[in-house]
Amino acid sequence: MSQHPLPDNLHLDTLAVRTAVDRSQYGENSEALYLTSGYVQPSAEASARRFAGEEDGYTYGRSGNPTVSSFEMRLAALEGSEAALATASGMSSIMLMLFSLLKAGDHVLYSQSMFGSTIKLIGSEFARFGVESTIVAQTDLAAWKAAIRPNTKILFAETPTNPLTEVCDIAALADLAHNAGALLAVDNCFATPILQRPMGMGSDIVMHSGTKYLDGQGRVMAGALCASEKLITEKFLPVIKNSGMVLSPFNAWVVLKGLETLDIRMRAQSARAHELALWLQEHPRVARVYYPGLASHPQHDLAMKQMSGLGGAVLSLDVKAQDPQSARTQAFHVLDSLRVLSLCTNLGDTKTLLTHPASTSHGKLSEDQRQAAGIGQGLIRVAVGLEHIDDLKADLLRGLDTL
Ligand SMILES: *Cc1c(COP(=O)(O)O)cnc(C)c1O
Repeated sequence: MSQHPLPDNLHLDTLAVRTAVDRSQYGENSEALYLTSGYVQPSAEASARRFAGEEDGYTYGRSGNPTVSSFEMRLAALEGSEAALATASGMSSIMLMLFSLLKAGDHVLYSQSMFGSTIKLIGSEFARFGVESTIVAQTDLAAWKAAIRPNTKILFAETPTNPLTEVCDIAALADLAHNAGALLAVDNCFATPILQRPMGMGSDIVMHSGTKYLDGQGRVMAGALCASEKLITEKFLPVIKNSGMVLSPFNAWVVLKGLETLDIRMRAQSARAHELALWLQEHPRVARVYYPGLASHPQHDLAMKQMSGLGGAVLSLDVKAQDPQSARTQAFHVLDSLRVLSLCTNLGDTKTLLTHPASTSHGKLSEDQRQAAGIGQGLIRVAVGLEHIDDLKADLLRGLDTL
């Protein structure tokens, strides 16, 4: 159906609901969901041209789908990238990125605070194919610089990190990468384009787990890479077409609609997280609160500059304890006393989710490795949702006040 092109210079919240709406002949207002694995070709000649790449047009689900394309275009508009490519999950987008850009003998530099599966994928799985890697401290720019080698192809950063919300300087890492002829990739899961747009700070690739805030309601797995048209069409598209970690149209539709409320969710959830962080740091049983929005956060100034003045929706707290065993008992008591909030290993949901990192995401590390990573037995991560702030506080107090 013919539609007017959108005017230039629309604001992000307008783009989130208005861009990439490709109406069918029925003129539906809400985006259509195209659940089909194949496409009927208008003629044998047209089919041949499409397969030869000489004509636009859908052929098969592994090569493209209109609902998936809408999600990709809308995410690219929000991130300010030329293009985006959707994948089945956040991890598969990292897999696609590394698989498309690296060969045996290449080197990847990344931080020790990255998502656990990312560290395993690079440090163990890709190592089996001769890809070298070095882990550095998240916030130590000199360490990143010193670890660059002639064969370094990718610097991969995540900011803020899980669960300690450590922040790294995206623009400075982009300079380091580019001076070394490497690319900078940023995992933007925690901040989302509403708070932080790494492409504008020099990042070459932005990676997403759509499972988190982009869906925002804990329903589906999804992932994406945002990058230049050239990287997407020359590097990532050929590999995904032949390897198949594509996003299902149904999941794409869910995340596409999730993007419409991303702005108000991120702001409302960040506001609740900030109030909760300020309140928690005054509680007598709380030893420390980790949250980029707090003045006590070691990279507070950088975080505020880089994240639109907001701290995001994830915070962590350490309960006071004499030793690791009692810390674990006390953290478990707080978690087991919850009656409203969820004990759940996910984040980016409208429901507030709490986890105990030392026995879940970081459970396979030795106690020494955990101490080095700063993940104590008393640490609790809170991914703040949309419940009323008074109910959030009251549910945490059930355990904190009876320690
Ligand atoms: C969840 C997450 C991932 C992995 O995404 P999946 O969708 O679970 O595959 C990667 N990075 C960060 C920061 C995450 O929180």
